[in-house]
Amino acid sequence: MDAVKIIISAGLLLLFPLLALTPLPAVAQLCTYSTYQWNVHEQRAVNIRRVSLPYTDLSAGEKDPATGCSVCEQDQVEISLPGVAPFSVCKLIAQDVQQTFTRLQQSSVPIYSIVGYRVGMTRGDPDAHGNRTRFSNHSFGIALDVNAEFNGLYDNCLEFGPQCRLLRGGRWNPTQPAALRADGPVVRAMRTIGLQWGGAILGRQKDFMHFSISGY
Ligand SMILES: [Zn+2]
Repeated sequence: MDAVKIIISAGLLLLFPLLALTPLPAVAQLCTYSTYQWNVHEQRAVNIRRVSLPYTDLSAGEKDPATGCSVCEQDQVEISLPGVAPFSVCKLIAQDVQQTFTRLQQSSVPIYSIVGYRVGMTRGDPDAHGNRTRFSNHSFGIALDVNAEFNGLYDNCLEFGPQCRLLRGGRWNPTQPAALRADGPVVRAMRTIGLQWGGAILGRQKDFMHFSISGY
């Protein structure tokens, strides 16, 4: 070993304990998500964008006050069920959701599709451009749409009847096995984990595919 090598080795040996003791710089935990705003004039999504910010900089509107679930992808857990495209929900309800749908499938309840986490401002008063200003419950991963192809979203629908106007999803026919009903297995199972059905909400809309803590 020549002199230079000895000096370098000695230097590294001296440096090593210092490196080991030096605390790593604090890495801000990052929150990322994709979002949009619903424009009520154009009836389409606008301002589609990707957002990335330190978790500590989240605004009040980016979190659900009741659960603490956020719009961040980092707060979501993906759930896989046989025959259903994977979907994500907030980590706080993920285990309940997974177990409940597994039990329903084991009881041969037909489950074709589930949508959970999906960030977008589809609520709140429109701004000057007609863009909605509040995040939906789906944005926090605390709402689910089940079998949308058989359980549409209607307006003009204080009571379900021929006057109801289908906005999204398939027509609701309660005699169809994949249709959700107030006394059916899916609605009852969701209620046991604290999720209310959008088919029984008051007001002009009926969202037959939808579940959330309030039903809205
Ligand atoms: Zn929904």
